Amino acid sequence: MGMKTDFTSLVLEMFKKCAGRSGCEVCREHMEEDCLFFPEMYRLHDLVQETGTPLAEMDLASLVDLCTLCGLCPCQDIRMLVLKAKAARAEEKKPPLSARLLSDAQQAGQWGTAFSAVLNPLNRLKPVTAMAKKILDIHPERSLPAFPEESFFVWAKKKGLTAPVKNPSRDASKVAYFVGCSAGYLFPGVAKAAVGLLEQNKIQVFVPSQHCCSMPLIMEGNQQEAKKRIQNNLETLGACVQDGYDIVCSCPTCGYFFKKLLVETAYYSEAFQLRADAGNNRMQVPTGSRDQKFTTVPMGIYKTFLKDDGYFSGIDPLQRIDLSLNVQDLGEYLLARHKAGELSISLKEPGRPLAYFAPCHQREQNIGHPYVEMIQSLPGTDIIPVGGEMHCCGMGGHLGFKTDFHDHSLAIGGPMFDRLAAASGRTVITDCLSCRMQLQHVFSRQVFHPLELLSAV
Ligand code: SF4
Ligand code: SF4
Repeated sequence: MGMKTDFTSLVLEMFKKCAGRSGCEVCREHMEEDCLFFPEMYRLHDLVQETGTPLAEMDLASLVDLCTLCGLCPCQDIRMLVLKAKAARAEEKKPPLSARLLSDAQQAGQWGTAFSAVLNPLNRLKPVTAMAKKILDIHPERSLPAFPEESFFVWAKKKGLTAPVKNPSRDASKVAYFVGCSAGYLFPGVAKAAVGLLEQNKIQVFVPSQHCCSMPLIMEGNQQEAKKRIQNNLETLGACVQDGYDIVCSCPTCGYFFKKLLVETAYYSEAFQLRADAGNNRMQVPTGSRDQKFTTVPMGIYKTFLKDDGYFSGIDPLQRIDLSLNVQDLGEYLLARHKAGELSISLKEPGRPLAYFAPCHQREQNIGHPYVEMIQSLPGTDIIPVGGEMHCCGMGGHLGFKTDFHDHSLAIGGPMFDRLAAASGRTVITDCLSCRMQLQHVFSRQVFHPLELLSAV
């Protein structure tokens, strides 16, 4: 390889950690089936060892493109290196317009819903769709999603949900609902079902002004725009926490992003160490991600490698920590109330056989399977979980649409599709709308969010 750029240095750091002489290589055997990144990294590593052929920058770029950020690999720092490498690559070589358009889910959703009356009929004309796919670099076999007549956000505004809750009753619970772009702009029925269930249970709902959580942007290396939107979300959601709202997300990716990715190295920051009052020459280091248990370590040794120098380090670490501690998955929120006997809930069609796929970003939140637990507790239910702890649908948000990634996406999802095919008599439910698009593409049948099947008694 020629001169090392920031991008190549970052990728080579991953090689060093996971495949170098002192690398641990655990993922060589464990990530064979569920991830395309690790097998390719080991293949490239072995090739260099065997032939001495230097790695080309293009090989490294293609390698990084194989990561969907599913979160299934054991080490967060490898995923953060992937993100940093994507950002460095985008700095060095501007991504194509198609990738920038496709990854800006918020803008695409705002335009798509505003002009749905024109776009949807055009979407039914084959030559127009073919051209649109070409421009956006979408694989010919993928269907372009149809936009609803109005976004959830427009509906929520008409309903008065975008204004803070007025005259909150003393005992009433109130939530600030972070909807996410997929429910906001593509599947508003899911977000309306969430509002319906909450309101039927006398939980007051506020839909604060919100930007994309930024996961699709960082997947294309657009770190600058992502940071602006994250900062806006932190301000708005932080104010909601101050005003006594519980923050809930119905999208597992938004929840994973706020709880896990964004908080990253924030606990190692000086601001947190001051707040934790660790004492002179000591540091408080978390032992788990959200259990708020800490261990004290001597600062002298640890501060050289425990630093807030990660992908999001320019953003206030205390804001990141506080948000991560106050966000709940909506299923998690509802289950807690259900267990406390505070939730009136029933299945719209009791007895309908269901198969539930737990999305990667839901599993990574370590909250069990709240919707399955809730549904199983209802009379006359028939629900089975499908897919193991390491199964991924392969969609990776918008990545599965991309021409180059389409086949990879189906290859990653293959083992999970086999399991789902064996449950063919069941209605498939999953809380990730990206998984939903993938499963609808593969099985040509409707897939639901669990919220759409539930109502108050
Ligand atoms: S991701 Fe972690 S566990 Fe896997 S090979 Fe790399 S260092 Fe080892
Ligand atoms: S985040 Fe997922 S796709 Fe990326 S390296 Fe880890 S397991 Fe592989």
